[in-house]
Amino acid sequence: MTSNNSQIPQRILMGPGPSNVHPRVLEAMSHSMIGHLDPIFLEIMDENMKLLRQVFGTKNRLTLPISATGSAGMEATLCNLIEPDDDVLVCVNGVFGMRMSDIVDRYGGNLHTVDAPWGRIIDPQDVADKLKDIVKPKLIAIVHVETSTGILQPLVEIAELAKAHDALLVVDCVTSLCGTPVNLDELGIDAAYSGTQKCMSCPPGLSPVSFSKRAINAIHNRSTKVTSWYLDMGMISKYWGDDRVYHHTAPISMNYALNESLKIVCEEGLDTRYRRHSLHSQALADGLSALGIERIAQEGFRAPMLTSVSVPDDVDEAKVRNQLLHTYNIEIGAGLGTLKGKAWRIGLMGETCRRENVIGLLTALGEILPERSAAEAVQTAENVYNTSK
Ligand SMILES: *Cc1c(COP(=O)(O)O)cnc(C)c1O
Repeated sequence: MTSNNSQIPQRILMGPGPSNVHPRVLEAMSHSMIGHLDPIFLEIMDENMKLLRQVFGTKNRLTLPISATGSAGMEATLCNLIEPDDDVLVCVNGVFGMRMSDIVDRYGGNLHTVDAPWGRIIDPQDVADKLKDIVKPKLIAIVHVETSTGILQPLVEIAELAKAHDALLVVDCVTSLCGTPVNLDELGIDAAYSGTQKCMSCPPGLSPVSFSKRAINAIHNRSTKVTSWYLDMGMISKYWGDDRVYHHTAPISMNYALNESLKIVCEEGLDTRYRRHSLHSQALADGLSALGIERIAQEGFRAPMLTSVSVPDDVDEAKVRNQLLHTYNIEIGAGLGTLKGKAWRIGLMGETCRRENVIGLLTALGEILPERSAAEAVQTAENVYNTSK
């Protein structure tokens, strides 16, 4: 069998990413190729840095998109800030905390973890207790929205603990950025990374990162070279800085796409965008509840852009996902790790986060699942919309 690009369908992407992409972004990607040091491209690079500072809520000069997906941003923040034998505390309550732990370990960090059950937040008291045993913690790493469980982690107390212990704070904002407030400077976050394909509604391929002055000092004061050549922020910052020292060839079309998607985010306005994510996730959750499908994430800490739910006992989860995809063109996500086979992860990220998609999914599930009423689920969601007016 050969693949045929003309057969690629228009899916409704309600999984954990990628999310649907605005036609303006797709159009931007089809613009002509230019050189990566062309003055027009340099302007786009500069504008992308400026727009990323806005959405990250930071003045950090070193704010730019790494030329690779979100996981590369994760690796870049950690591998530049960690030297062998540094004590590093990673908070783990899902897949992405586990991934950070793995990276810390691979770069020779002395790994400590604070764990919480999947679907619960990391308790700041547990972090405080753990820190009592670590003489000189170099860095604390935590995930803002854990996409494997749908938890939105509060950061204020963790940031205070990091400050009190003179540790750098690294936050995974892959899923949170542009869907819920991420204020790096206000919170005192030293390094953060994101990905383009979640609430920014851009294709996967770039990973926005931001480093504070304190983080940059830590990089300057390293006694060893950064072990990764590609992700060495010293060299990357010279490429994105005034000297434009060639390091790699920036993915030109992806930077066009990022530029357009950030403009769309700014046209909507961040606060409006956050409210939109809250509203539609509430409508979705209430509608699902009417279908007997309940949320997994701890109440009060549920992420607006990613709703994780328990698959009802009478339901074959993979079969339903396949039916959604093939009959309704809707993609939703399966459970990961300990939630494999037991959960669905439903994304309402960026462009996907719309009333018609909420209603469409509830209708489809109401039709697929036995003994449920699509009409009742839709009505329940509509009630949320009506009371929000
Ligand atoms: C998606 C995701 C990542 C990884 O991003 P990729 O683009 O898949 O490499 C990291 N952290 C979180 C929280 C994510 O949701």
